[in-house]
Amino acid sequence: MTCRNRIAAALAALLFVAAGCSRVPVSETRTLMGTQVTITVQDYDNDKLDGGQLPAAMDSAFVEIARIEDLARWDELKKLNAWAGYQAAPIGEELIGLIDRAYQIAENTGGAFRPDLGPLTNLWGIGTDEARLPAYWEIEEALDLISQTVFTIEDSVYARLDPDGASLDLGGVAKGYAVDRACFVLDDLGVTAAMVEAGGDLRVFGRKPSREPWRIAVRHPRELDRFYTIIELHEGAVATSGDYERYFEVDGGRYHHIFDPETGYPSRASISATAIAETCAGADAYATAFFVLGPDAAVRLAGGLELPALVIDENDDGELVSRQTSSFARLRADERLDPER
Ligand code: AMP
Ligand code: MG
Repeated sequence: MTCRNRIAAALAALLFVAAGCSRVPVSETRTLMGTQVTITVQDYDNDKLDGGQLPAAMDSAFVEIARIEDLARWDELKKLNAWAGYQAAPIGEELIGLIDRAYQIAENTGGAFRPDLGPLTNLWGIGTDEARLPAYWEIEEALDLISQTVFTIEDSVYARLDPDGASLDLGGVAKGYAVDRACFVLDDLGVTAAMVEAGGDLRVFGRKPSREPWRIAVRHPRELDRFYTIIELHEGAVATSGDYERYFEVDGGRYHHIFDPETGYPSRASISATAIAETCAGADAYATAFFVLGPDAAVRLAGGLELPALVIDENDDGELVSRQTSSFARLRADERLDPER
């Protein structure tokens, strides 16, 4: 090692030690739930945690996300789906709670969000090696099954799904729920200000030492390395659903992963939808629903639900057209890229 290299190594070690015991932001990224998950801690309670314990607290939050990832592929959910039409399956309180919430959002969005789309999402297989364009009659069959799907809680530990072939898909809410849980774990362990981000979904809590709001970039739906706008938030969750996230292409057509429950095909109503809510599970599910509804209907509904929202579509000339609630406009720090404003 040359003298210069030794000095550089010593400096790096010093900085590392300093970072361990100071309150500078500490950030870590891991791959979980099929996406990059980043936790950024901005502040913590010295009585509960010291800088040296921070990595362990962050590790616990990542472990919690991994637990939800397993839960989303949960044995419980698999059994409920596999035994549909035959018998009740044992089911825990946590999964029941999440299914309940998903059905509540289905009701609030007039069925634009549906947790029982399993027969359709399985048929298309988007995001898997078996992705394909199904025949029209297959889609009709899946829609018919979905329209008959009933989820019943039999008692506190059993639930059943009917009829045979029915299937719940919590893909539109699980990532957001995992982010909520990670925030809960961090808060519980003494972190007082943090951001947890998983793909297009994130949640922030607590005051940064600088007292500044959190600045959150909303991705540009067609130029993915750019942002469309920046919003400023003190507390809460933001989720974006986009047609660029998971898709396959056949004969020049793009088939993405957000389905219109009325047609059984990927929704063509939007190219991106962003929702802001108290919880990330809520923001996640509403973003999916707003995408399906399209800019006008989504912004009308979001206004009524008092949820800030921004929905973007593309016209025939390839220009972006967007609608936003006034509550969303107020959170924007950067408005120059929105042609509607
Ligand atoms: P997101 O990326 O949050 O918009 O969620 C998309 C995922 O939710 C898909 O991969 C499906 O698993 C599921 N999904 C697709 N369309 C819908 C819908 N209309 N309602 C509820 N879940 C959906
Ligand atoms: Mg979503």
